[in-house]
Amino acid sequence: MSTEPLRIGDHLVSPDHYIDGARVPGQRSFELFSPIDQRVLGHVAEGDEEHVEAAIQAAQRAFASWSALTAAQRLPCLERFADEIGRRAQALCAVESTDAGVLLSRMQHGVVPRAMLNIRWFARHALELQDRPIDTEQARHIVRHDPAGVTVIITPWNAPLMLSTWKLGPALAAGNTCVLKPPEWAPLTCSLLADAADAAGLPPGVFNVVQGTGATTGARLVADPRVARVSFTGSVPTARRIAQAAGANLVPCSLELGGKSPFIVLEDADLDAAAATATLMYRNAGQVCLAGTRLLVHEQVADEFVARMRPLVDQLVIGDPREEATEVGPIIHPRQVERVQGFVDRAVAGGAKLLWGGGRHAFGALYFSPTLVTNLQQDDEIVQNEVFGPVLTLQTFGHDDEAVALANGTDYGLGGVCYGETAHATAVAERVRTGFIWVNSFGIRDLAAPFGGIKRSGIGREGGEWSFEFFCDVKDIVLPKKPFRASFAHR
Ligand code: NAD
Repeated sequence: MSTEPLRIGDHLVSPDHYIDGARVPGQRSFELFSPIDQRVLGHVAEGDEEHVEAAIQAAQRAFASWSALTAAQRLPCLERFADEIGRRAQALCAVESTDAGVLLSRMQHGVVPRAMLNIRWFARHALELQDRPIDTEQARHIVRHDPAGVTVIITPWNAPLMLSTWKLGPALAAGNTCVLKPPEWAPLTCSLLADAADAAGLPPGVFNVVQGTGATTGARLVADPRVARVSFTGSVPTARRIAQAAGANLVPCSLELGGKSPFIVLEDADLDAAAATATLMYRNAGQVCLAGTRLLVHEQVADEFVARMRPLVDQLVIGDPREEATEVGPIIHPRQVERVQGFVDRAVAGGAKLLWGGGRHAFGALYFSPTLVTNLQQDDEIVQNEVFGPVLTLQTFGHDDEAVALANGTDYGLGGVCYGETAHATAVAERVRTGFIWVNSFGIRDLAAPFGGIKRSGIGREGGEWSFEFFCDVKDIVLPKKPFRASFAHR
């Protein structure tokens, strides 16, 4: 079935797969709509067995020559890829804002520059992966980071461009070839990425995009025994399925999953700064894995903290994400709105109190008012589970030990935020069991630093050398310093 390009404003986006350097239409397709107004944007190809097969074969073929290049030889091609992403900045911003509901301003100032950097930074840092020698008395070891092979990348709808490039950058720079399966609720910027790769002259098969749903296309890709790595960002239930499928082939998986991160406000915190940062948690309508969604505030300052946060929340501009002034956009899908509403309704039915919000917002069907829920127990569903909407919970504590116990009292362990006098906040942060935690700040993500979660929030780290550790096979070539004599007595 030939599929028409989707028109998003002035921009045309191919709905087809991109396999072996060419556009490939699907026999079947799925409908895509915008969360802004639920307008149908068009149809996108659904990957069947033959597309998965073609993409994996293409990636396998391309691996032979792409992996044989040095990082320095791959660098110009990847630099051009980053440049081509930059050339498409306007389209990428307009398209992701329309199909995922991400704020246009955030796309312009945050996501697109970061997407370029994700490719460029890892391409340059791969130069440092060249043979690292270790000298001992017995031998000279040459430690190599060899490309692992065909890499499957699966990304979620809340940040498709950012997360796809965050994985593609190190995977390609390390010499792997990739098959990307974009999220079916927001697949279009990944199609534009294929255009960028094509224009940059990435050899055919090095980067492939197979569109489709998770249960069919995604499941086929991650179960394929020819795949050497699976890099996934998404939800816990999907991660379990992927880990099982990849585990059957003993294929390493990197799993970046959900969060229920604490936002601790100690009694000596700068309350204005803490309240301003807490209000940021409503960004992207709360559809942010690393948001600190559980406000844990010292009982001495809780009323004052809430009083300072309320006007900031009241002033939030809720509306069309394509408008410059908008601060909170839509939720991605009617199913998600129902899910968010269900969490709030069940909490209230169980005795929780709403300090603000609690239901849909008048701007549109998929808009939800920023919400704060309190009067909660630690084992309440809304405290324990990721809501993934503009809903925060508030609990109070009397001393640091209690704050730490509440912070660590869920099965998640992605991130956290801690506001307080710096030494005090740092001491508390050290005791919070998560993959990262921001002290008196939020959202600083340096490419050289590790990112990832513990417990139910995931397995593995991405960023800097941690990405390369995952995407490479580390090999030790051992050269003895003295002539080697074979002997059974030898160690
Ligand atoms: P999801 O798990 O439903 O889907 C993620 C991706 O997996 C999609 O592309 C989907 O098509 C695919 N998929 C689904 N089933 C599959 C299967 N059986 N085999 C292979 N692929 C399959 O997640 P979502 O709803 O798209 O995203 C929201 C979740 O992602 C939240 O839990 C959020 O916290 C998490 N997330 C985590 C991070 C992080 O870095 N830790 C970042 C962003 C989002």
